[in-house]
Amino acid sequence: MPALRLRSPLMFSGAFLLLAVVYSSYFSVAVRTDAAAAADRFQTLVNIGAPRRAAKHGERAITLALKEGATENDVAPLKAAVADAQTARRKYQRAADLLLDALTAGWGQNLPIAERIEYEDRLARAYLLDGNLEKAAAIYTSFLELAGDAVALPNDARIAPDAKLHASKLSAAADAFLRVVNHAEPRPLTGATPEHVLASATQLADLGGFYGMREGGEYAAAGLLATAYEARKRIRGVDHQDTVQLTLMLGPLYTKMGRLRDAETLYLEAFHAQERAKGANSPDLSLYIKLLAGVYEKQERFTEAQALYEHMRRLFRDAFGAQRYSVNRDKDRREYINRPVSQHFPLEASYSPKDLVSASEFFVPTAKLPNIDEMKLRLAADRGSDAREENLPARLAQLISLCRSESDEVISLRSGYRSFQTQAALHARNGDRGTVTPPGVSEHQTGLAADINVNGRFMRQSDRAFQCFEENAFRFGFILSYPPGNDYLPGEDSYEPWHWRYVGIQTAQLYREAGPHNQPQEFLAALPCFQERAASGVFPTAGERDICLDGKPAQLANAAPAQPRRESPDAARILNDW
Ligand SMILES: [Zn+2]
Repeated sequence: MPALRLRSPLMFSGAFLLLAVVYSSYFSVAVRTDAAAAADRFQTLVNIGAPRRAAKHGERAITLALKEGATENDVAPLKAAVADAQTARRKYQRAADLLLDALTAGWGQNLPIAERIEYEDRLARAYLLDGNLEKAAAIYTSFLELAGDAVALPNDARIAPDAKLHASKLSAAADAFLRVVNHAEPRPLTGATPEHVLASATQLADLGGFYGMREGGEYAAAGLLATAYEARKRIRGVDHQDTVQLTLMLGPLYTKMGRLRDAETLYLEAFHAQERAKGANSPDLSLYIKLLAGVYEKQERFTEAQALYEHMRRLFRDAFGAQRYSVNRDKDRREYINRPVSQHFPLEASYSPKDLVSASEFFVPTAKLPNIDEMKLRLAADRGSDAREENLPARLAQLISLCRSESDEVISLRSGYRSFQTQAALHARNGDRGTVTPPGVSEHQTGLAADINVNGRFMRQSDRAFQCFEENAFRFGFILSYPPGNDYLPGEDSYEPWHWRYVGIQTAQLYREAGPHNQPQEFLAALPCFQERAASGVFPTAGERDICLDGKPAQLANAAPAQPRRESPDAARILNDW
């Protein structure tokens, strides 16, 4: 029997093993078949156009697959497909959850960019349909940033296809927003926390500002801005500066659309808010008076308009006649306006301008989201002026509008203010390659410099818009501050035909008429000498050494004579401007 005793356990264990293999494979096949069967059923129902029933089987397929041990990454494509079925049955929140899972999983992260944009757009729409304006606006806001220059020039073939796609999704979003904003009380604006409502309002205002600048975008812009305005009014109050600020975006739109009653109501609210905040004699009121008077004129209410203009003149007489603006404040507003900036004249890390404003508030077309730091410029208002008109951004807007009509090219602000810290971070990230201007050396830190885009890319010397800037920028107080052959920035070629800097009208004219040709930083460094010389009427004869440049810091006085260099808008050069 020993043979038998030996054999029996072997046989037994062999039989058991076989059974176990058969059983376990049967089990696993059964489970897999069940999940796969549910997924098949889902697909069939989708194909025959029965999304309600499809959604049920789709959800079951997801649950079964996960139970079987599938990862989030495995089920991501199924989740994305089931989201569509849930959208069809108006289960928007579920659809959004599914899409978010799918996009967060590795599957979503690795999608080709064009597909990812499609899914993000679907997610934004699910949020929108669920009444969640904040999350939808956040997605479209990031589209707006990613689209970059494409929004200015959607038909230019040179633009990266994904930027184009971002831009087209963004355009298509306007209608969807408008339907929600106009036809339904959006849920987050009634149910969410005040912080959520304010965040929504900011994003809606950004989008509104963007549509407001687009041809034919007024209708969408007004809807978005009005919603943002109402939200801020409810949470912050009508007197809050953030609320008042929106009237400057919304009011001109209403006027343009002929909704004069709405514009009047809005400006009156803003006027009274400013009156309460700053006193009945504040010159800050003049802006709202002027806007209101403009509406009255359009309504042919000339007597009322006249009375308002008279009131405005009185405010200015009082304010500036009595010199209520202290000398210090005046000084602060003019501060650094003529300061040279170069690698030989670096700015302090602590310097940041006190009077930054969003350029778009002064109708400067911006290539990026209007309220980000980079789209800000210094106000740099003239002494005793109408603060809305005689200042840097207003003059840049005038210059752009003049050159736009002369050149028939699309001109926008690509880059304005950049803080020392921003520049330092960029430099740290790219410094090894030596292509980014070190912190303190960039004029952008002063908030006085504007990089200009033409047709969606950096302005070039060959652009008609550049010719127009060259002939006219000085009339608006701007000079080309990195001309050909300069050594102001590190690197071998610092010519920047797109970089224009505000120095004020008088200084720009003096530079044009009497300054050393193509040596703007040297000119600024020796400005008092040039001013004195201009006043005395003494000018150097040709070929003679310029007396104003003697005794100046060696690097500047000995700067190599200007010599034209090739225009090189290549990647390295463009980065150098950062
Ligand atoms: Zn620049």
